[in-house]
Amino acid sequence: MPFLDDIQAQLQEIRDEGLWKEERPLSSPQGGRVQVAGREVINLCANNYLGLADHPDLIRASQEALGEMGYGMASVRFICGTAEIHRQLEQRLARWLGHDDAILFAACFDANGALFEPLLGPQDAVISDSLNHASIIDGIRLCKAQRYRFANSDMADLEAKLKEAREKGARNIMIATDGVFSMDGYFANLPEIRRLADEYDALVMVDDCHATGFVGATGAGTPERAGVKVDVITGTLGKALGGAIGGYIAGPQPVIDLLRQRARPYLFSNALPPAICAASLVAIDMAEKGDDLRAQLTENTAYWRAGLTDLGFELLPGEHPIVPVMLHEAPKAQAMAAKLGELGVYVSGFFYPVVPKGRARIRTQMNAALTRADLDTALAAFEEAGRATGALQ
Ligand SMILES: *Cc1c(COP(=O)(O)O)cnc(C)c1O
Repeated sequence: MPFLDDIQAQLQEIRDEGLWKEERPLSSPQGGRVQVAGREVINLCANNYLGLADHPDLIRASQEALGEMGYGMASVRFICGTAEIHRQLEQRLARWLGHDDAILFAACFDANGALFEPLLGPQDAVISDSLNHASIIDGIRLCKAQRYRFANSDMADLEAKLKEAREKGARNIMIATDGVFSMDGYFANLPEIRRLADEYDALVMVDDCHATGFVGATGAGTPERAGVKVDVITGTLGKALGGAIGGYIAGPQPVIDLLRQRARPYLFSNALPPAICAASLVAIDMAEKGDDLRAQLTENTAYWRAGLTDLGFELLPGEHPIVPVMLHEAPKAQAMAAKLGELGVYVSGFFYPVVPKGRARIRTQMNAALTRADLDTALAAFEEAGRATGALQ
């Protein structure tokens, strides 16, 4: 069958290019240490920043909600799928993040897919950072606004695109950026983006998936850290806030009201299970009050960065718990990741096309569930793997 033959050829191409991705099933809860293929390993690649994925308080809250509200809603929100706890969670998210209201989605991928199309028409423009997440790129593709892209965090380029959009008579302009760029762990320059947006009368949309819960004084994310107000924020329940599933958009009341009327992933997709909403409410309480968890995460990040630097590894600079170890060449990153796996440290290598050619790396991520002993064991493994693969002299 030619159709399947074509697909087989594509699969072979992916393998030949060394880009094949394998799943590695866990047989334990997500945590600082996990069971993979019958073996306990230290996990340095989860988005479990606050270590809440297996937290007893979240498990208890979701179990209680299962008992009270059952398993599933079996409906989209506007037919008969809205439970009281959905509205409770939306209002809680909005209050925490400093917005009028919020709207839940099955995932942040859906939130970003939902956002642009109802809000921006052909007379409008959207200006997007070139390193934005795939879901923002797809969401923008679905809307009819004029599209502009600026080089990653290049504020001169952003200004040039704002000028161009204004000169071409755009009605409304929205700047879209990740709050944190996940390959590098770099923060978006929100103060300057806000300043330019105000100068050119544009809106700012931030996707804060790699920040909400652990960045900023109360975990409210990159706008809180930068001390700026953004117009619309999107985020996930699937990373720091317990790691299950779900996404949201928070923003001004009219924006959220229109999304509730028009956003297709909201109108045509099932409501989140109440058990996830219940655990998310607990996760938000813990994140908002969670100075201890954030302090542990910050301490782990500082210790990890210092340890790798002392060993002689090249890191990308920064303070985010994403700590990329630069190996530059893809085979070196692959060899390092494989050797670390043998030594009981679970990491993920990234190379072209996920990052530019010559910028291959191992992206490590810290979380609050990792102990000092875990980090010392992992540092010893990095040293051994570094010497074995020639990454360290
Ligand atoms: C993880 C992530 C998403 C997707 O979130 P899900 O809730 O898993 O769909 C979107 N944007 C960014 C920047 C992310 O890191």
